[in-house]
Amino acid sequence: MRRPVIVGNWKMNTTLREATTLAAAVRRDLERVDDVEVGICPPFVYLLDVADQVRDTNIRLGAQDCHWEPKGAFTGEVSPAMLKDVGCEYVILGHSERRHLLGEKDDQINKKLRGALAVGLTPILCIGELLEERERGATDAVVRGQLEGSLAGFGADALERMILAYEPVWAIGTGKTATPGQAQEVHAGLRAWLRKRFGAVADGLRIQYGGSVKPDNAADLMRLPDVDGALVGGASLDAKAFAGIVRFKDQSA
Ligand code: PEP
Repeated sequence: MRRPVIVGNWKMNTTLREATTLAAAVRRDLERVDDVEVGICPPFVYLLDVADQVRDTNIRLGAQDCHWEPKGAFTGEVSPAMLKDVGCEYVILGHSERRHLLGEKDDQINKKLRGALAVGLTPILCIGELLEERERGATDAVVRGQLEGSLAGFGADALERMILAYEPVWAIGTGKTATPGQAQEVHAGLRAWLRKRFGAVADGLRIQYGGSVKPDNAADLMRLPDVDGALVGGASLDAKAFAGIVRFKDQSA
């Protein structure tokens, strides 16, 4: 039985005051939720302040990226050890905005995964196809290629310590959501591929869906057999909307 994991990606949003206010509101709504694992990923500069807001609650802290090296001359970068040091449990890696806007490649993501795992962070590895790739029937090839590249050299023990997020790029921040049928088809295909490559550990892997998840579509997505939670962008900036997604079971009742 895979426990759903729902994580908010705040991206490059909020001021310090907005971040602490939002974190406090998320805490009020969700601090004791335990049927779903809940996390929030604020910008790096607000991690410590947000950590203070969610301390001693069930809400976990994460970051949106990291470098692969533990320390050194990498101006502007943040290491996995630094994230661990300020209380992070997750780190989002390979988000489509980093792949497509900043040119991040699978080999870099592979090194970041290694760095994150080495300090005990749980990476949330993001993969997903562009609209043009879906339209020419290349979705499977694209997401499997991303998996192969990002996971090169890893074994089942590494997969066991990760979360995967399938995020069709055409659904991110666009208000377009994959239909339940589209999401389930890709998630099941990913799990089957991972089972072949890594064995039974794939059955325990949690695969989040991401792409315009909102309170009114969350229940339909979360009830799918191979969808084990959500990575939430826009709606995670509104505490009520985020809580509505986390409490998707109430909505399907
Ligand atoms: C995301 O950026 O991971 C995401 C899913 O964004 P949104 O929910 O805004 O589509």
